[in-house]
Amino acid sequence: MIYQKNGISVTFTDGTKFRLDPRTYSPEEINLVSHGHSDHLPTRCHGESVVMSDVTQKLLKLRKRATADILSHASVRPLDAGHVVGSRMFLLEGDQSILYTGDFCTKQKFFSQGAQPVSADVLIVESTFGSEEYVFPETKEVATQIRQCVASCIENDESVIVLAYPFGKAQELTHLLRDYAPFVDDGIYQINDALRSFGYDFRDQLFDAASVTESREPFVLITSGRSTPQGQDGPLRGKRRTLAVSGWAASRGKYFRGVDYAFALSDHADFQDLLRFVDRCSPEVVYTCHGFAKKFARLVHAHLGIDAFPLEKGQHFLSNYA
Ligand SMILES: [Zn+2]
Repeated sequence: MIYQKNGISVTFTDGTKFRLDPRTYSPEEINLVSHGHSDHLPTRCHGESVVMSDVTQKLLKLRKRATADILSHASVRPLDAGHVVGSRMFLLEGDQSILYTGDFCTKQKFFSQGAQPVSADVLIVESTFGSEEYVFPETKEVATQIRQCVASCIENDESVIVLAYPFGKAQELTHLLRDYAPFVDDGIYQINDALRSFGYDFRDQLFDAASVTESREPFVLITSGRSTPQGQDGPLRGKRRTLAVSGWAASRGKYFRGVDYAFALSDHADFQDLLRFVDRCSPEVVYTCHGFAKKFARLVHAHLGIDAFPLEKGQHFLSNYA
């Protein structure tokens, strides 16, 4: 049985119950947390046991002030999801094999080779960008464009304010622009700092308006934009450009977030990656969740001839598809 409520609930025929990415920790079930984005971390989790990576465990503490032990379970195989540092897909192995992708990305990143498909009877796949217009360039290609854009701004004596989500994009950009020893805002600095203990080497600096003002040199600042630091005077009031990265830039270009430059660098699979991934897992049935869930389910059936349904509230019996 599989249904969406407080995350996704999966029950094996032997009665074993799993709760995938619960909003609230679910006692009496095996809780699995795919990654450390705030909307995937459970509340009311204090000293419990959760199937997750060590990085996600650290972020649970940092972002939700919650503690949990890492649980391993004989029926659960965690796999690299390639979405953000420490992200996992979960292969549940019972009467049937069920692959839950969580948020995932198949493109190569600085921290991952990308999620690899595995064969599964049932696939629960995220469909954030499950619509034809969302096709992104390879990471290497867009990384080169971003570096060239930043280099030309700095050459023109313009500082660059990079808007990025605090966990995920911010680390990719800190890594990508490391030659500039980029400044980062407080929220990003805390996350980078937490990741240093896992061996990630970020050449970042905590933003400090006073030293930036004093140096008068153009600089790179990576910020989530929630609290863009303001200088009293000096370069922050001088020439600067804004740059944003997001999959949504693929359809909205630079109108995305009203910035000077926008690049389609995403932590999610694009439309073609999604279809290819589904095909290679060769499931008997697909459930889609997030974003274009309805549309992508339709397109999976149209392109691949596989039964596909958007995961909605209500119950689906896995035995129907055995
Ligand atoms: Zn995510």
